[in-house]
Amino acid sequence: MAKRTKGKCKYCGKEYTFSYMNKHLPVCEERQKKWAEETGGKKTGYFELAIYPKYNREHWLYVEIKETALLKDLDRFLRDIWLECCGHLSAFDINGVCYDVMPQDNFFWGEPAKSMNYKLKSVLEKGMTFGYEYDFGSTTELMITVVNYRIRNNGKEKLIILSRNNPVETLCEECGKKSAVYICTQCYYEGGGWLCEDCAETHECGEEMLLPVCNSPRMGVCGYCGSDIYPDQFVPDIYSIKG
Ligand SMILES: [Zn+2]
Ligand SMILES: [Zn+2]
Ligand SMILES: [Zn+2]
Repeated sequence: MAKRTKGKCKYCGKEYTFSYMNKHLPVCEERQKKWAEETGGKKTGYFELAIYPKYNREHWLYVEIKETALLKDLDRFLRDIWLECCGHLSAFDINGVCYDVMPQDNFFWGEPAKSMNYKLKSVLEKGMTFGYEYDFGSTTELMITVVNYRIRNNGKEKLIILSRNNPVETLCEECGKKSAVYICTQCYYEGGGWLCEDCAETHECGEEMLLPVCNSPRMGVCGYCGSDIYPDQFVPDIYSIKG
């Protein structure tokens, strides 16, 4: 079942769906105030990316990333926030060219893959959509659209999260009362398997089948246990400033 999740804007904290957030971000008043304060200083180009799984829009991210960042920086971020389970391979597919995290030189079929040591500005263009895959076995396939490009003051961070879908709460399928905190990978395969803390203890498939519920398109896949770096709920600036 496709869920239209909402997420919070980094600058004003307002909640919108994936497609509406794309319209909001360029016109957000709080963000525009920030831009207006940027005077003088060194300028640099930033790409704004919408990142989403190929087959649903339940999970999504908007990020701003420096044009001088490398593809491997983007790869690192995607692993950190959504994907890393056991160091699988990954690759970008940009205009039919493959940029691989570990390119092989002894390639047997077709063109050898390129490395990820390319600056974004040498491979990306506003308006384009490209693909990304993590783990060539139980693959998580993502799509990335370059929704904007803008020149502004050169900030410290290479990458800033502008918005992210809020975690989706799902009720436990056994008791139907509490929130699910585990997914049984055995049952998930058949389209179920959501379990609360209590029901997980007595679930028939066994403990080794359980993975934690987390805010990622890789939830329930391989041994994915969630991000160690990014909390599931994205916190807008407006809250952190006011404490
Ligand atoms: Zn906003
Ligand atoms: Zn894995
Ligand atoms: Zn339960």
